[in-house]
Amino acid sequence: MARWIEVADGVLVRRYQELDLSLGLVVGAASCLVVDTGGDAGQGAGLAAAVREVTPLPWQVVLTHSHFDHAFGTEAFAPCAVWAHRGCRADLVATGAQQREVWARYYRERGEPDVGDRVAAVRPVLPDHLVDDRAELDLGDRRVVLRHFGPAHSDHDLVVHVPDASVVFAGDLVEHGAPPQFDDAHPQGWPVALDGVLGLDAATVVPGHGDPVDRGFVRAQRDELALVAELCREVASGALTAEQAVARSPYPEEPTRAALARIS
Ligand SMILES: [Zn+2]
Repeated sequence: MARWIEVADGVLVRRYQELDLSLGLVVGAASCLVVDTGGDAGQGAGLAAAVREVTPLPWQVVLTHSHFDHAFGTEAFAPCAVWAHRGCRADLVATGAQQREVWARYYRERGEPDVGDRVAAVRPVLPDHLVDDRAELDLGDRRVVLRHFGPAHSDHDLVVHVPDASVVFAGDLVEHGAPPQFDDAHPQGWPVALDGVLGLDAATVVPGHGDPVDRGFVRAQRDELALVAELCREVASGALTAEQAVARSPYPEEPTRAALARIS
């Protein structure tokens, strides 16, 4: 099950029970922009149909990062412009097959073989409009700015800023309802990237998973991530053991250990 919520005029979030995922849509006068495409062709097709219930305008896609649940549904929108950070394309080339295998197994073992088969069948569409630090898109009567604030949740996170609506789609730089995920993370860069997000001064920030949040939530998550970065530094320098770091972490053991593993 999925539903739209409108966070500002013509700025919508598609909320999913599965993975508590949040995908996005920005509607301009001449075209619309789809923010992330879901984890398989079926989810992508469902999103495309839902977009068509909102607007008949031509679409472009932007991928916040390469993780399967954000980037594997793009086929349903092709052919169209697909924006992403340069590193997102490189990572889809490098890890696409492995992500497909890991997540197909995850769903099959969870007793959802249909979803597993769909994930296994995905051939990720590679982004063709590549961004380094900043790009601007014109949707007709509104512009959207894509920004990269350095390595954080991945080495290529892109945030989608809609200035006239005071909304930012933050991808997995922000997590609501679950701890941040560090498997491909750069713990030292993450608080810096959230400073970049906060600097955009948006009233509403849409996380990659969970409900839209305000600046106060992002600031609190930034401070937690700064503490995790500090714990990583102290473990690396030998000032703390991993166990001590886990005990002091604002997050549960598993994500904390994933963060520590990224700096060893
Ligand atoms: Zn992610």
